Amino acid sequence: MKLHNQIFISMAVAALFGAFTTLESQIFGVPVIAVYDTIGQLFINGLQMIVVPLITSAMISSLTNLGEGRDLGRLGGKSVAYYMTTSLIAILIGVAVANTFTPGVINGEPAGDRLGLADNTAEVLARIEGRGAGDFAGVILQLLPANLLEAAVKGQLLGLIVFSLLFGYFLRQVPGNSGQALRDAIDGLYQTMIKLTMFIIRFTPIGVFGLIAATVTRTGLAAIQPLLWFFLCVLLALLLHSAVALTLLVRVLAKRSPLRLARAMAPALLTAFSTASSAAALPLNMQSIRHRAGVSKRTTSFVLPLGCTINMDGTALYECMVVLFIAQAYGLELSFGMQFMIVFTALLTSIGVASIPAASLVAITLILGIVGLPAQAIGLVLVTDRLLDMCRTAVNVWSDGVAAVLIARSEGEQDVLMREPEAANT
Ligand code: ASP
Repeated sequence: MKLHNQIFISMAVAALFGAFTTLESQIFGVPVIAVYDTIGQLFINGLQMIVVPLITSAMISSLTNLGEGRDLGRLGGKSVAYYMTTSLIAILIGVAVANTFTPGVINGEPAGDRLGLADNTAEVLARIEGRGAGDFAGVILQLLPANLLEAAVKGQLLGLIVFSLLFGYFLRQVPGNSGQALRDAIDGLYQTMIKLTMFIIRFTPIGVFGLIAATVTRTGLAAIQPLLWFFLCVLLALLLHSAVALTLLVRVLAKRSPLRLARAMAPALLTAFSTASSAAALPLNMQSIRHRAGVSKRTTSFVLPLGCTINMDGTALYECMVVLFIAQAYGLELSFGMQFMIVFTALLTSIGVASIPAASLVAITLILGIVGLPAQAIGLVLVTDRLLDMCRTAVNVWSDGVAAVLIARSEGEQDVLMREPEAANT
């Protein structure tokens, strides 16, 4: 059976299991939720284990194979232009939906009192405090980490990418046998990592089962009730961005079928959804884009790791919508200038947000501060955060895939999406 069908079935079964499990349920004296958590965590561990060697070897080998120095500038320029443009479109869609449907106003009244703050707000604030990545200076400093290993340990991929880019750039200039030997070795490392990735990917249905069952047990669908309107507004905006805006780009600019791309990316999108981490979905995304969508190794290994770290359309859109929602719930009128400021900050912070679950909460507290709202107000949206995190992460990953296809096509690649993904090997 195809991998994405296996994942679908496992998600459905997991939702069923989750619906019948409570936090108190036990099996042989062990809490069932702990069993789900362990299965899910093992899978995430497996994916995260490969992220650092995979992206460093992919970026370095893509750079050393890039050809002319000019190619690097062109590919980098195109990627950054794409990331910024689509994130901006996402944010503007979010702002338009939030202003049109005003989810923070219920029956003409600001919804603040009615919603109340979640009990664990203080705990969440303490957890995200000092995680960095949210403020501008933090983002800039992350670009050049003093300690590479520390950056890797903390999952700050931005610094690792900059290092890999520099390393690859200078490795190109090392002549003779020693340069070639190292280039070959890194290429070998990259190919090994791809094989290891394929091995871990086989366990996706099992891992996804644990993750979804745990989420359904913890959150349940009833939790969404008071925030239903806000929840639906975010879903609508995410849908407009992914199914209309990005899809049009694939159709018009890349002249390829967006549906075929979605089918090719299905395993990666489902993994992004289940893990709520674009870093965890990166290995699968690289595999899907390379082998199922037919994008060259050169483009895949440059565009996707970079996109995974700095291109977060869903996150940027969400940051904006949460802040507008909270401002509405508090009855705060936001001027055009203030909304512009929010858009700008969301665009910049989405670059620095880590590709892990709930990472955008850090950026949201920062923007709340700029608007003059208390950071505690984030408590309003905590209940739905996980479910929306799953959705926005899938959009983040979808946008990375669209970037790879668009850039590959603009580089003259003809093979992209020419065959059905099923002809490939996953
Ligand atoms: N979970 C998101 C991601 O990994 C980041 C976020 O919006 O919290 O892409």
